[in-house]
Amino acid sequence: MNVADSERAATGLRESGYDLCTSEADADVVLLNTCSVREKAEKKVFTRVGEIRSAESAGRKVLVGVMGCVAQLEGETIFERAPVDLVIGTRATDRIPSLLNRAHEGERKIIDLAERDLNDSWDVSPVERHSPHVAFIPIIEGCNKFCSFCIVPYSRGRERSRPATEIVNEVRRLQNLGYKEVHLIGQNVNSYRPRIEDGLQGFQGATPFSRLLRAIAATGMPRIKFTTSFPRDFHPDIVAALEENANLCDWVHLPVQSGSDRILKLMRRGHTRADYLSRIDRIKNSKRRLALTSDVIVGFPGETEKDFRDTLTLVEECSYDGLYIFKYSRRKGTPAANFPDTISEQEKTARFSELERVQKQAQENIYRSYVGRTLSVLVERQSSRSKSDVTGHSTCHKVVNFPGHHGLEGEILDVLITQTKSNSLYGTKVDRFGVA
Ligand code: SF4
Repeated sequence: MNVADSERAATGLRESGYDLCTSEADADVVLLNTCSVREKAEKKVFTRVGEIRSAESAGRKVLVGVMGCVAQLEGETIFERAPVDLVIGTRATDRIPSLLNRAHEGERKIIDLAERDLNDSWDVSPVERHSPHVAFIPIIEGCNKFCSFCIVPYSRGRERSRPATEIVNEVRRLQNLGYKEVHLIGQNVNSYRPRIEDGLQGFQGATPFSRLLRAIAATGMPRIKFTTSFPRDFHPDIVAALEENANLCDWVHLPVQSGSDRILKLMRRGHTRADYLSRIDRIKNSKRRLALTSDVIVGFPGETEKDFRDTLTLVEECSYDGLYIFKYSRRKGTPAANFPDTISEQEKTARFSELERVQKQAQENIYRSYVGRTLSVLVERQSSRSKSDVTGHSTCHKVVNFPGHHGLEGEILDVLITQTKSNSLYGTKVDRFGVA
C-alpha cells in the first residue's frame, strides 16, 4: 500500500512541475512515507528527519514532510517531536502539490488529516510505477475489522472501495502499455464492496470481489494476483473464480494470526480455528493446486503454552508454502495495548524459533515437490546474487532464479525447476523443444 501511495504522490507532483531526484542532497522537498504497523519503523522516521536537517547546507532550506500512517496517527505532535514543515495524512496523498504550494508561499506547520475528496484521482503514471512489468492496483483502502492488536483501522480509516469500472479501465490501460501482471491490493481485498456496482453487471459471483475478479480476468491481463484476504470474508466462490480463469494466479494469502480459539477471540479476529480451516479445505481441495501463505503472531498477551501449541498444530495442518511470523509488539492506541503483556521477550523468541522450524520443514517438502515441474515465470530483473542469472516470480508467487540475461526482463517464460533453496527455486528455461 505504501509503495502504491508513493507512486500516486509522485504522479501528482510530476504533474505539478516537480522532478524526482535520486539523492536527497539535491532535493528541495523531501517527503518521508511512513509505516506504523511496528513501533521501530515509527521511531526511524524521526531519526531520518534529524539526518536530513543536519545535512542541510547553510542558506539552503529543504521542505520536509511526513506522510502516511505515522502522519495520520501522530498528527500535530510530529511538529513537537521533529523539525518538519508538513504532516500529510493517509487520505491527503492527492493534495500534496497544493500543500507544497502553501509551504512555498511561506505558511509553516501545514497539516492535512482530512478525508479523501470524492473526486480525488487514484491514477498512477506508468513513469512512477515501481516496475514496468508488475503494477499494484489498490481496490480498497482502510479496514473495518478492528483486530485488537492492529493500528490500521485508525491510521487508514474505514473501508472505501474503488469503483469497479475505474479498476477495470486501469487494468486495460496497463495491458496496453505491456504490463504482464497486476496485484490487486488492499488491507482486505475480499471485503471489496463498491457503493455502486457499475462495471460488474454481467459477471457472476457470490460477492462483489469474486465478480470483480471475473471482470478483471476477462480483460485478458496475463497474470492477476491479489492480497491480502481476510478469512471471515473469504467466500468459496473466490476459489471457483480461480478455477475458472487461468490468468487469476494460483496463490492465496490468508492470514490466520493464531491457531488458538481463545487467542483469536482476544485478537477480535471474528473467525475461529474451525472457520479458518473450512476455508483452507476449499483451497486445498481445489482442482487447481493453489499455493497458500499466511501471517502468524506469536507471544500475543496471555498466550499460554497450550495456545501456542494450537498454533503449531494449525501451521502443520495447513502446510503453508510460506509464513510470515511476527513477535507480538505493543502498538499504542490499540485495544491490545491495554492487555497485560505477559510473555517475556525470551519466550516470544523461543516460540518464534520453534514455529519457524516447523514451517521450514513443511516449506522444504513443498519446495522439493516443485523439482521436475515447469513453472511460468515473469522475469523481473537480473539476480542480485549472480550476474549470469535472472529472477522473477512464478504464478504461485515463488521466487525463481535461472540462467538468463537482461534482455529477458518482462518476458513470461517456462522454467523447469531443478533445485530448491530455503526461500526460492532454481531452474532452467525451457522452450517448446525442451530445455533451452
Ligand atoms: S483485518 Fe488486517 S488490517 Fe484490519 S484490523 Fe485486522 S489485522 Fe488490521
